[in-house]
Amino acid sequence: MSRTMVAGNWKMNTTPREGHELVRQVIDRVGTPATKVVFGVPAIQLMAVQALVKDPSGYAVAAQNMHEEQSGAFTGETSAAMLADAGIEYVILGHSERREYAGEDDELINRKIVAAIAAGLKPIYCCGEKLDIREAGNQEVVVGKQIEQALGSLSPTQIESVVIAYEPVWAIGTGVTASKEQAQQMHNYIRRMISNQFGADVAEHMTILYGGSVKPGNAAELFAQPDVDGGLVGGASLDAESFAAIVQAV
Ligand code: PGA
Repeated sequence: MSRTMVAGNWKMNTTPREGHELVRQVIDRVGTPATKVVFGVPAIQLMAVQALVKDPSGYAVAAQNMHEEQSGAFTGETSAAMLADAGIEYVILGHSERREYAGEDDELINRKIVAAIAAGLKPIYCCGEKLDIREAGNQEVVVGKQIEQALGSLSPTQIESVVIAYEPVWAIGTGVTASKEQAQQMHNYIRRMISNQFGADVAEHMTILYGGSVKPGNAAELFAQPDVDGGLVGGASLDAESFAAIVQAV
C-alpha cells in the first residue's frame, strides 16, 4: 500500500456552510485521488464532512483534537470513542498550536495517542522544533525526544496506526518552508528512529508528512524527497484550487 497522504488542517476556520463548499470544490477538482486525502475539520463539521467524502474513494476526515478519557465529566470535550463511532478515521494530535495554547506536552499526547488507537482511530502525530532550537542545531535532539516520549511506549501493532507529521514550528503559517534538504534530513532521521525501535518493516510503511507553509509552488519538490510522503497543509488547505494542486503534486 502506498504511504502517501495529503492532509488539510483547517484549524479554526470555515463555517459549516463554507466547509461544505470547500470539500465539494476539492472533490470536483481532484476526483478520485492518487493519494489519500484527509480533511482536518473543526469539530462541528466532522459528521457532515464525513458524509460528503464517502464518495469517491480516497478521502477521509480527521478531527483536530480529542480528550484522552473515554467519557465523563469533561465539559466541551470529544472522546476517541465518539469520533470512531461517527466514522472518523484520523485525529491530529500534538499540533504545535495545542502545545502552545493548550499547554499539551508529550506525556499527555502519548495518552491521547494510546486512547485514539484503542478506539480504532489513526493519530496524525505532529512534532517539530522551534526556531531557536534549529538555530542552535539541536533539532534532531528535540524532535527525537518528542517522538520518544509520545510514541516510545507503543507496541509494534499500535505504531502501525500512526502517521507522523514533521512540522518545524518556524515554518507554520510563516510562509517560510523548510528546504527540501532540511525536510528530507529530518524525515530520514525520524524513519531511522522508528526503524531502530520498531523494525525496518514498520519504518518502511510509516507515513511521514511534512507541514509548514506547504503551497502549490513548493509541494512537488518537498514530496519528491524519498522520506517525505506528503504534507499536512494549513493555510493552503482553505483554498480549493491550492489544496487540489498540492494533492496532485504527490
Ligand atoms: P501552514 O500550517 O501550512 O499554514 O503553515 C501547517 C499546520 O499548522 O499544520
